Amino acid sequence: MVELGGFKLHVLSDGVFHVDGGLIFGIVPRVLWSKRFEPDDQNRVPLYLRPLLVDTGEQRVLIDPGIGDTYGEKFRKIYSIEREQGQLLESLANAGYAPEDITDVIFTHLHFDHCGSATKLDDEGVPRLVFPNAYHYASVEEYEQARNPNARTQGSYRADLIEPIAATGRVHPIRKTADSIIPGFTVLRTPGHTPDHISFLIQSQGQHLVFWGDLMPLVAHINPVWSAALDTHPMDTMESKLKMLKRAVEEGWHYHYFYHEMKPLLTADEVAELISVEKEAKPPTGAV
Ligand SMILES: [Zn+2]
Repeated sequence: MVELGGFKLHVLSDGVFHVDGGLIFGIVPRVLWSKRFEPDDQNRVPLYLRPLLVDTGEQRVLIDPGIGDTYGEKFRKIYSIEREQGQLLESLANAGYAPEDITDVIFTHLHFDHCGSATKLDDEGVPRLVFPNAYHYASVEEYEQARNPNARTQGSYRADLIEPIAATGRVHPIRKTADSIIPGFTVLRTPGHTPDHISFLIQSQGQHLVFWGDLMPLVAHINPVWSAALDTHPMDTMESKLKMLKRAVEEGWHYHYFYHEMKPLLTADEVAELISVEKEAKPPTGAV
């Protein structure tokens, strides 16, 4: 547990899955990314799933709850999902909380590896909410995209995960004009990975943590050129990163959270060090 002002932060785990290195590192050639990430025999690299629980004293807010277990064997194999049954809930219990304690679930976006643990199948195979007392928040535009995917995005948005959340009527759409959703939580517009991806700035007693979501899934993505091939608008990703990292430095944000890292929570000093290393490095790709 880490304290952020008067808030308590709990780094949770929903296991790990694996994606093609080309998918997560975009235009960066394998010869470069494989020096930092050793691929498996199918060219895949691990992406950890690290939901964050913020206990504000008044509310218990869960951010991007994870991949869940509502998938078949084929899906599990494609992504080599390593996750015990009920993994997130066990992690939550170890932190001292029950699913009923969660008051709010907030999503950076609605890809299956970020919202999958918000629902589960009951004994009759009907999807149910895992956090029955929580309000669920997503950007209204992201929500529309997720419910109406195109041929390119439909592999990342799964109706069987999103519709049960929609059906509860406990979904609060985050609108562009509404910057603050929960006391201490500010929405940052960070388009690129999806057109309406959002990140969260969490503040208590002058301390700040930024939850980047898939704007920067791994620390390596601090480099503006390293962005996922999956991003629908990679130039927007680059612009969002540069703008937000500049703001983070100027405003002295204390912690950065990288959802797909095994150890997701970094201090500002650690991030500053990484930014300076990236600046000194040669550009990772040549002109083609
Ligand atoms: Zn994503």
